[in-house]
Formats: sequence, C-alpha cells, structure tokens
Amino acid sequence: MEQTNLTDLIRNIPDFPISGVQFKDITTLLSDGPAFRQVIDAFVERFKDRQIDAIVGIESRGFIFSAPIAYILGAGLVPVRKPGKLPAATYQIEYDLEYGSNQLEIHQDALQSGMRVLIIDDLLATGGTISAACELVEMAGGTIEEVAFLIELEFLKGREKLTNYPIFSLIQY
Ligand code: AMP
Repeated sequence: MEQTNLTDLIRNIPDFPISGVQFKDITTLLSDGPAFRQVIDAFVERFKDRQIDAIVGIESRGFIFSAPIAYILGAGLVPVRKPGKLPAATYQIEYDLEYGSNQLEIHQDALQSGMRVLIIDDLLATGGTISAACELVEMAGGTIEEVAFLIELEFLKGREKLTNYPIFSLIQY
C-alpha cells in the first residue's frame, strides 16, 4: 500500500502550551486512518520478533500507541501514569519537563522480574519523562528491551540522557 509522509500530517503549533515551545500536534495524524495504521504497522514490524513481554505506555499520548501494538504483539500493557491515578501500591518518580515538572507512577506489581519491556511514548524532547519511566520500569523489575517514540526532537538531545538503552524514533526533527 502507498505510504504517507507522516511528517506532513504533524501540525506545528507555535507557543503552546507556553511561549517558545513549538508543540507537535499529532491529532492531525491520528485522525487519518491509513496514516495511524502505518505508524502502528511500523512499530509492530520492528518489534514483532523481539519476544516483548510487556509494553509500557506513558500517560497519556503513549497509551494511544502502546495499546494497539500490545494487542498485535500479544504482549501485556502496563500504564505509567500521572500521580494519584493508579489505585494499588506504586513506585513514584519526580522529573523535569521541557516545560515545568511532573511526577509519574507505576504499579509495584505491574511487571515480573526479567520481563522484556518495550516503553512507548509519542515524543522524545529533553528525555526527562522517558528517563523517569525507565527508572520506574527497572524499580518494578523489568528489563528494558528498547524505548520507542513516534517523534524525536533531536535538537533537545534527549537521547544523551538515555545512554543505557536502545532508542528508536519513527520521525526526527
Ligand atoms: P521530555 O520529558 O522533555 O522528553 O518531554 C516529553 C513529553 O512531553 C512527551 O510525553 C510529550 O508528549 C510532551 N512534549 C514535550 N515537548 C513537546 C512538544 N514540543 N510537542 C509535543 N509534545 C511535547
């Protein structure tokens, strides 16, 4: 099937949510059925033979990609969420964002020791969010097979924070 240029479907919103940030709006890609499928297929193709036990999706845009990939791979889906959302005992981490700071949590019993985990989020900016997620996955006993993003903002050098893990992105700016 003909491939869409995914970059053409990502909308740039200047000065959102704060002045100086150029927000990459993926809603314009998600609403295009064949393009959304192309993204999921590309991730599935990359990870289908990697014996992934669980996919960790980061709230909230990470959930959009992690759920269909987990379904197709037959892997479990484990949410990393903002504070106060997960009902059972959690591990928690505070971290810095491109704008502001945040906290993330994972259920303490979400993973079993040595499980092969793929972590997915929509976008790698400074790398604060994904570093926190990686730490949480390791606290819960998972082994990180790879971390994957739809978009990587290369100029923010988030990759340099993640030297311990293979990183994959479908689209780079
Ligand atoms: P960071 O922790 O700096 O790597 O930021 C990554 C998280 O913030 C991702 O979950 C993104 O959804 C969001 N984010 C950061 N910068 C942007 C941006 N320029 N456009 C869209 N989302 C962003």
